[in-house]
Amino acid sequence: MNLDKELKIYMQTIRFLDDSTDDYFYLYDMANDRLYFTEKICEKYPITLEKEGIPFSEWMKIVYAKDRNRLQQEIQSVANGNRETHYMEYRLIDKGGNRVWVYCRGTVLRESNEDSGFLIGSVSEVIMRRVVDSLTGLWNGEKFKEDMDRYLKEDKGYLMILGVDNFKNINVKNGRDFGNNLLKMVSMILEEQTDSYTRLYRMDGDCFAVNFPHKTRKNVEDFYNSVKKELENYCTASAGAVAYADGEDTGFLYQYAENALDRAKREGKNMLVFFSSEDYQKSLDWIELQDELKESVRNHFEGFSLRYQPQIEGKNFQIYGAEALLRYQSPTKGLISPMKFIPILEQNGLICEVGNWVLKTAVEQCVKWRKVLKDFHINVNISYVQLCQSNITEKVLDILKEAGIPGDALTLEVTESMELQDYTYFNKIFYEWKRHGIRIAIDDFGTGYSSLGYLKSIDVDETKIDRCFVSRIYCNNYNYRLLSNIIKLAHSAQIQVCCEGVETEEELIALQKLNPDLLQGFLFAKPYTKEEFEKVYIYKECAEYQARVEREKNFHQMKAIENPYFTDENEKDEIVNIVECMDEVIYVSDIDTYELYYMNPAGRKLTGVYNYKECKCYEVLHGKNKPCEYCNNGKLKSEKIHTWELDNLFLKRHFVIRDKLIPWHGKMARLEIAMDISSTKGI
Ligand code: C2E
Ligand code: CA
Ligand code: CA
Repeated sequence: MNLDKELKIYMQTIRFLDDSTDDYFYLYDMANDRLYFTEKICEKYPITLEKEGIPFSEWMKIVYAKDRNRLQQEIQSVANGNRETHYMEYRLIDKGGNRVWVYCRGTVLRESNEDSGFLIGSVSEVIMRRVVDSLTGLWNGEKFKEDMDRYLKEDKGYLMILGVDNFKNINVKNGRDFGNNLLKMVSMILEEQTDSYTRLYRMDGDCFAVNFPHKTRKNVEDFYNSVKKELENYCTASAGAVAYADGEDTGFLYQYAENALDRAKREGKNMLVFFSSEDYQKSLDWIELQDELKESVRNHFEGFSLRYQPQIEGKNFQIYGAEALLRYQSPTKGLISPMKFIPILEQNGLICEVGNWVLKTAVEQCVKWRKVLKDFHINVNISYVQLCQSNITEKVLDILKEAGIPGDALTLEVTESMELQDYTYFNKIFYEWKRHGIRIAIDDFGTGYSSLGYLKSIDVDETKIDRCFVSRIYCNNYNYRLLSNIIKLAHSAQIQVCCEGVETEEELIALQKLNPDLLQGFLFAKPYTKEEFEKVYIYKECAEYQARVEREKNFHQMKAIENPYFTDENEKDEIVNIVECMDEVIYVSDIDTYELYYMNPAGRKLTGVYNYKECKCYEVLHGKNKPCEYCNNGKLKSEKIHTWELDNLFLKRHFVIRDKLIPWHGKMARLEIAMDISSTKGI
């Protein structure tokens, strides 16, 4: 058969097949570089056919630029006789400029002589539809699985999952069409950043997978950073990545990448996080704990219990009430802190049921204790997730009614947070509760999202000052002033103040002057079980009750002591005068930099250093050029005075020394008082 005749027969076959399927059949005369299609392909693709065929380069013009190299190499290898078949996925650009994935296959036919050779085959869109995402034109999850199974066997590389941040909100706010267009745009930006070996897939919803065979961690980081930059004006996206080597199979690998993505979202979004097995273990623990919590809720709240921490009145140290604090005893992990399990309950919504149980239990307990302590109050924490339930107002009121307790026995503690910014919504709920006498407290005041402005926007009765303000308040001038202002402001707005986390007598003394209405903290009592609480506060005949009353007497005496740490200006001058006249060497130095802040005349005289500013204590007092090996800065605790003896070889004196940490211009510094006892030692 001559070539023309052969060609004619092939073309007839092609025409027949073309008519009966959706695929485009082709014939490629490799020796003469002529490619034949039927006219069908011109309907969709911008290509002009000629009777005598077109060169392969014409076809290349409608192949997506990033896929041309791969295709060229493939066809070359077939033309060279290295292969007899051709299978390849690549993209064409249609008349509308859209990228269309096609599956191209062909077989080499060599009938007449060795030199001639036809590649005959088809270009199919239909086959690809199964594996192409219709919205973005990227591969879909099915294709991802097929590819991954192959890559994992053969290559080193990375898998990345990328998710658009807050996509659900974007959809709700702007509508689905907007959301879909955004996804298309993200897919286009991703495409622009890929090379021909990086593969993109659209997974569920706003999630994209990116496969990086043969690539390094640095490549993945660079890719993410350039995508992040391109997305800047539209949205942000978080990503999680994992090395192929970290996963046993596609399922695990995907799970690991998702886990890293979850962390990226949890830790603030708009970032890339690489998978770590420790984090993964943590999330497994989280899941396990979540299952246990669910089971406990199903089993009538088995494992949950309440502790009660007393709230004390600031003016007379009488008991005002108690805050109910939730505990969970896990069957496998023991007692778990609410800091750990409350976020889980919040995330899966179980906090609504558990919160109800807490409220009911606490209120019922309050009813019992009010029989002995008439005005006893109970504080119950309520999560913003509970507040978002449509029937929360009635739920709380029903519980109160059922227990038969007046509203003013209950304070609900709400933590200030981002989620509580919808003032109008929450104020409506609070208003209704307040009508029934229930009080609202803002918890952890000062730690979270808002500050004083918050007190104006949310209609509250009480603010609970977080422990971080109260802690060592006596030696932090800045916090002291801030707290003083907060309390004044709150009082001027008729808002009560409770200082939380009072642990030491020094803290209590410092707080006295500020007149907080309520006090809470380990100094008075830790959170007690119901039985413990009753022994200490309810049953007078108990030894624990008597011991507590005795202890409280000390608090009354403490109240009389003036706060020694914050003196007025006149008093300050007096103190300086005294210190300046003393024979002991007295100096103050920075505990981190060792810089001398102050040294009294006795010290200046002994060391001969009169201009000690910017000198280090070890230089001036010990003649050293680095900190002394016996320096105890690290060991000093503010409450303790550290007493020791030193034979100071540099000054040729024997000292008994007392060291203490003191506040110095908003920082902690070391006060050292050194008494010279050389004469008693015969020096
Ligand atoms: P919170 O509401 O700020 O509760 C005060 C926390 O401070 C309690 O921790 C309490 O034990 C601790 N505390 C009290 N006095 C002192 C002190 O002098 N020093 C120190 N260092 N800590 C003190 P707890 O019981 O571990 O509770 C932690 C958090 O869990 C609570 O903080 C609250 O936000 C949440 N929580 C506890 N129970 C519930 C509940 O029933 N519902 C909700 N939504 N959250 C709860
Ligand atoms: Ca609280
Ligand atoms: Ca608190």
